[in-house]
Amino acid sequence: MTADREVDVAVIGAGQAGLSAAYYLARRGLAPESGFVVLDANEGPGGAWRHRWDSLTLGSAHGIHDLPRFPLGTPDPREPASSVVSRYYGAYEDEFDLRVQRPVRVRKVSRTAGNRLKVATDRGVWLARYVINATGTWDKPYWPAYPGQQDFRGEQLHTRDFRSAADFAGRRVLVVGGGTSALQFLLQLHDAGARTAWSTRRPPEFTNRPFDAEWGRDVERSVSERTRAGLPPLSVVAATGLPLTEQYRKGIDDGILVSRGPLLKLTPEGAVFEDGSTAAVDVILWATGFRASLGHLASLHLREPGGGIRMDGPRVVKLPQLLLVGYGESASTLGATRAGRAAAMAALQGWSTSSQTNSVAVPSSQSRRSTA
Ligand SMILES: Cc1cc2nc3c(=O)[nH]c(=O)nc-3n(C[C@H](O)[C@H](O)[C@H](O)COP(=O)(O)OP(=O)(O)OC[C@H]3O[C@@H](n4cnc5c(N)ncnc54)[C@H](O)[C@@H]3O)c2cc1C
Repeated sequence: MTADREVDVAVIGAGQAGLSAAYYLARRGLAPESGFVVLDANEGPGGAWRHRWDSLTLGSAHGIHDLPRFPLGTPDPREPASSVVSRYYGAYEDEFDLRVQRPVRVRKVSRTAGNRLKVATDRGVWLARYVINATGTWDKPYWPAYPGQQDFRGEQLHTRDFRSAADFAGRRVLVVGGGTSALQFLLQLHDAGARTAWSTRRPPEFTNRPFDAEWGRDVERSVSERTRAGLPPLSVVAATGLPLTEQYRKGIDDGILVSRGPLLKLTPEGAVFEDGSTAAVDVILWATGFRASLGHLASLHLREPGGGIRMDGPRVVKLPQLLLVGYGESASTLGATRAGRAAAMAALQGWSTSSQTNSVAVPSSQSRRSTA
């Protein structure tokens, strides 16, 4: 059994948010392994991107923001984003010597009597002054519940399980969900010879607004208002609308991207919509999004009566030693990169403040990089 290891900061998750945080910790002089540790559940680099389907190419993704001080460059837009991003993150870890520990799954974070956070994993325990949680959403697919769901005789899968549209050729597929994944699935399934139907809870909100920096700031503002109030973050599409690209406009004109409205219930053979119409289907693809993957924080009881976690920037108001990145307004590669920096700075600043008031000398000399 391994003895507990002590670090100044434990970063959980090595996606865009965790790597950005680790970079800034290292840059400010913390040494990997003794000053900070990055724990990641995946077998290799890439965060959630390493699991995405091959037809999600860099050209069809919204865009991957650069990690700090290491441009992504201009990879082939036809290459699957899963391989481009995994290679990019791997090179980043090597370049800045971040020494990500994997596969290590964090099971539980709890408070200790000594004002540390205990990070219990399947590979032993780390004790940390600060925890930067960057665990994303991929591990928590959201499946809504509808009457009759158990009786449906066809296949049901979630975005997380999607591999290739060719798997559905000749089948009748109902896609549920109002985000860009649903739009892309519908077009690809149609091209692959599936017969599709689409269900959304609300009429799809296409927008001509350009997805520029001002738009990005508006989205961040509206989501952060919710997390500051302790409410759960909205889905991206609820805050942004859907971009009306040429491809989507054609899909609407061809009748592929036309919603049948909300689902009422499922039957053994298919779906009944709220307007009373029905569709016989072989497959239901739930493109219904994800929730923050925070099960390992459950025993800290962070949730507010509103159902969310009250945030002040990256800090959790109820537990300022815990910083959440890639959560709420920072759930994009751009937001995650910025939040990683803010979290690293908040952790470093936090103990410089506590060292003045409590005479805690941190970071310890052993935890600093000798070359820093
Ligand atoms: C289909 C899809 C397409 C998207 N396209 C874009 C896009 O084009 N542009 C964009 O900016 N954003 C996009 N996003 C959002 C995107 O995923 C985020 O922007 C960003 O990549 C998330 O980074 P992250 O670091 O927060 O999380 P992740 O990349 O999910 O990384 C989290 C890491 O934490 C690890 N982890 C989780 N739980 C634990 C645990 N308990 N213990 C240890 N490790 C753990 C995971 O293994 C993973 O490696 C997309 C999202 C989806 C679902």
